[in-house]
Amino acid sequence: MIARRRFLAVPALLLAAPSCAQGPAARPATAATAPGLRIGPSGLAQGGMALGQVKPGTRVALDGRPVHVAPDGRFAIGFPRDAAPTARLTATALTATTPGGGTEDRDLAIARREWDVQRINGLPGAMVSPNAQQLARINAERLRTAATRKVDSDLPFFAEPFIRPAQGRISGVFGSQRILNGEARAPHLALDIAAPTGTPVAAMGGGRILLADNLYFTGNTIILDHGHGITSLYAHLSAMDVAEGEMVRQGQRIGAIGATGRVTGPHLHLGLNWLATALDPAPVLPEA
Ligand SMILES: [Zn+2]
Repeated sequence: MIARRRFLAVPALLLAAPSCAQGPAARPATAATAPGLRIGPSGLAQGGMALGQVKPGTRVALDGRPVHVAPDGRFAIGFPRDAAPTARLTATALTATTPGGGTEDRDLAIARREWDVQRINGLPGAMVSPNAQQLARINAERLRTAATRKVDSDLPFFAEPFIRPAQGRISGVFGSQRILNGEARAPHLALDIAAPTGTPVAAMGGGRILLADNLYFTGNTIILDHGHGITSLYAHLSAMDVAEGEMVRQGQRIGAIGATGRVTGPHLHLGLNWLATALDPAPVLPEA
């Protein structure tokens, strides 16, 4: 379900004028200087992406870590699969003139989720336990992928509603623990959409192509930057129609579903990240 209303309006923090205020510099933090923080209502959950809004000229931090705020005051944050039950969002109006004024702290309740356990047997041994040469390739690719997760660009597309990149059956959900050939592996931090090889894959939002290459585990892989640390990833593609550095529009065909890399059948492995934090793509997509 996608929320039509993107923000939950909450009253901005209004601070009373200090009784000992003296001179014109000691103005109270009125609506003009309060941060006007709005957040959610969607996305305040483990694996969730949330959009927020503050007044322009406001600094935002999540658990003390600075958050990239657009000139119009919009920002994105995200919560990992194993996020703690609360997170603290702090908005500080840079124009506030009252000591301590114009700062608003919000303790966000992060909804807990239950995760599936998925067992996959019969994978080729080389894919489960790569040799030294394969490990070197995997580690080099991991560094490249990690570098794309540091990109925190000014692109505005993170704040626009996303579309489904491909039609198909959901064959794997975010957060599930995979047990490959009996060995517990890292949780599956993406959404799998199964469809025949050649099914078109579209950009779920506008952005710039950060990576378009063949990788060991994820096969033909595209990573798309939507701005403010929000990236989407499209893996196991049979075709890639875009090049690194290229700007794409939402809905533009960027490739086709395939079975390249470590797979048991053709599907789109769709990832969503806020910087290094992997998020669940499902809640930000409209119904199929
Ligand atoms: Zn997957």
